[in-house]
Amino acid sequence: MSISKQNREASDDARINELLADDIQKELSFKIRRLPGNLVLRFQIVNVVLLALEITLIISNNVQTLGFWASFVTTSTRYREAVKRTRLIYAIYPTSLDRYHLWRGWIVPSALAGGGYIAMSLLCLRHELYHWKPDLLQHYFETVHASRLGRLVPQSWLAYCFRIYERKHKAYMAKHIQRRAALRDSAQFLKIVRVVSFNLLISILALLLWWLLLLRTKIEADDPLTLPLSYVPPLQGVVWYLCNDFFYFYPHWIAHSIPDEDAFYCNLLPKPIARRLHSLLRQAHKTHHRAKANLGVAAWYCSPWEQLLFNLFPAFIGPLLTQVIADMAGVEDIWGTKLVTLYVWITAAAVSSVLAHTGYRSVWNDPGKHDLHHERAFDPKAACNFGTMGFFDWLHGTKSSIPAADSSAWKAQRDRQAALWEASRRSGIALTEEQMTVVKQPDHSTEWVVKDT
Ligand SMILES: [Zn+2]
Ligand SMILES: [Zn+2]
Repeated sequence: MSISKQNREASDDARINELLADDIQKELSFKIRRLPGNLVLRFQIVNVVLLALEITLIISNNVQTLGFWASFVTTSTRYREAVKRTRLIYAIYPTSLDRYHLWRGWIVPSALAGGGYIAMSLLCLRHELYHWKPDLLQHYFETVHASRLGRLVPQSWLAYCFRIYERKHKAYMAKHIQRRAALRDSAQFLKIVRVVSFNLLISILALLLWWLLLLRTKIEADDPLTLPLSYVPPLQGVVWYLCNDFFYFYPHWIAHSIPDEDAFYCNLLPKPIARRLHSLLRQAHKTHHRAKANLGVAAWYCSPWEQLLFNLFPAFIGPLLTQVIADMAGVEDIWGTKLVTLYVWITAAAVSSVLAHTGYRSVWNDPGKHDLHHERAFDPKAACNFGTMGFFDWLHGTKSSIPAADSSAWKAQRDRQAALWEASRRSGIALTEEQMTVVKQPDHSTEWVVKDT
């Protein structure tokens, strides 16, 4: 058979799959199958988990007690008693501390938020294992195979490992938002781990201070078992989120905006104070922008001042504020901050910080918004996305439309890819290389801002 005839047949086969995929995408059953993944992609994993927790709360309050929270409190109390019985703690622990409920108000939330941060960072770090180009890895494999020790390992094993790596590398490239590498070398990684560990320590101490302040209100610390009414956590969540976005957005925006007549804060404050404020906030925030490409574990890579001012204070202020208002209004029984809501909030805040910095778009998590912020950080004309979930960015017109457009393009590619696989299954015709790699990250490298911090 002539080569041109073979090419024609291959292109006819490819066309059959394309036409079949067009029809499949119109099928209701296909749309239903795609729905769960697309919903997670739309609402993101943290919001999906929060929704699931709210559903269990509604069931527990109205249908049947599920007992998850009671069993968590019982287990936690058992651990507390076990720790108190250890020789060291028994020797140094004054019982007068009992009234501060340090275990449930400080130790447990610190463990949940810190553990959440560390676990999510480790999960997201696994992507970085696959950032080497396969050609480079093949070179290493060949070197290993040629070595004396390597000759003892069967070639087929090395080839098998290489194929797995190649596949993972392709997936990594299809999901990594920027073409830049997030890490320069291992020394830089160790520096990140050092700084983040210190900030975790600061966070634990700040959490103690926060709990002691909460104890000065009428927060219910003696009875952790009572669940909140079903409508309270979502409403509190909205208020706490708005507080968080407000206190994160404005200092962050000031840190990135040069104090000229266009900057909003220059019209509100005397010029010397505005300049000083900008300089202090920018200085505190500069460390965080160590690189334009993001890395999950580096979410809290920042100066201690930034950790306190940008990350902890905005997350802590909401629950404290609503508790104080509830006390003043005499409705603390209903609207007071419950421990269970506090735990969920603080853990979600820590995990969300990591998820915003993964630099890696997946069905579970799309950090495109904050990724673009890092990419354009200190360019006064292009800097954008200073908030967390976007309310104040929307209000002040600092929200970029690029991440949302990228997300919907990526979702459309994923749907097309799934339809093509289904078409290939039905037609029995293999997909072409091009048809197998429909999902690609939108490439903005041509618009990259070269300006350094
Ligand atoms: Zn950041
Ligand atoms: Zn920034």
